[in-house]
Amino acid sequence: MIAPLNVNDLLGKSEPYRTYNIDRNINYTNVCTAVCDFCAFYRSPKSPEGYVLERKVLLEKIQETVDIGGEQILLQGGLHPDFKIEWYEELLNDIKEHFPQVNVHGFSPPEIYHFSKVNKLSLREVLVRLRAAGLGSLPGGGAEILVDRVRKQITRGKVLSDDWLEVNRVWHELGGRSTATMMFGHVETLAERIEHLDRLRQLQDETGGFTAFICWTFQPEHTDMSDIAPAGAHEYLKTNAVARLYLDNFANLQSSWVTQGLKIGQMGLLYGANDMGSLMLEENVVSQAGTVHHLSLEQIRGAISDLGYQPRQRNVFYELVEEPVDEAVDGGISSLLPQSRQNQHPLPIVN
Ligand code: SF4
Repeated sequence: MIAPLNVNDLLGKSEPYRTYNIDRNINYTNVCTAVCDFCAFYRSPKSPEGYVLERKVLLEKIQETVDIGGEQILLQGGLHPDFKIEWYEELLNDIKEHFPQVNVHGFSPPEIYHFSKVNKLSLREVLVRLRAAGLGSLPGGGAEILVDRVRKQITRGKVLSDDWLEVNRVWHELGGRSTATMMFGHVETLAERIEHLDRLRQLQDETGGFTAFICWTFQPEHTDMSDIAPAGAHEYLKTNAVARLYLDNFANLQSSWVTQGLKIGQMGLLYGANDMGSLMLEENVVSQAGTVHHLSLEQIRGAISDLGYQPRQRNVFYELVEEPVDEAVDGGISSLLPQSRQNQHPLPIVN
């Protein structure tokens, strides 16, 4: 069913296709002990607006994903103060018991680091236990800019640069795969963007465990940093192209149509990206910060074809899914979105 993707072909951009993914973002809780000035999603542990998704509801969301052919979920949440490691193990066990075929792309480095602190366990112990319970891969959220001056200015109570990288290092040493991200266009300098890329490149040289790099522009609307002017399309494309050149050991770069819209997302494929990212069934964090783009599967595939490439579906490990996607699938996906969300936009990596 799955054909391995040739990394050398990707680096040479000789392949006739560009890829995309289908999955569902499930935010299991918005309760968070951290304070990130750019985040409109989180609620403090005492807030009446805090939620923890009921297990039944969570499993229903996965069932809907499976029903339209999805085989993976992106599972992320806030840094909940009360849940012990057993709660997360049980969550993963439940998911795998009901859906053994579904890959759980879950728990970004800030969450893993938080689990380690709350439970007084090493990162290795946390990751080994979660993997044994069914964790498949790690999303690369919560990196923002991997420079502590920046992190301390825009976040409180959240993992700093060395430990964000250490979570990935340990996961890679265990044979796991993860993605790397960068949210830019806020308080960082251009030199700090390069420092971020350099730290990722160094770790990738060491472990080779990153599958892809994804960058996007900070969306200031509805956040405590709304006085910052949003970075524009030119800045986005230029940064994407610099990342492609600098991260010479990353096989894949995702284009971020989520923050940039369809046309700039498509242009991203001409500025270093080889992947259009995920068609997300659900996203809460960036959409609450006021982002606006949502694409159908047909639009994503069309954006790729318009450039003369074959649109190909991949999984979270960037392995091609051999079966061409039935266009009818898109109707199923769109019908799962509430009417109010069908013109809003989701962002894949948020924590
Ligand atoms: S970005 Fe993540 S860690 Fe930061 S406040 Fe939001 S949910 Fe919490």
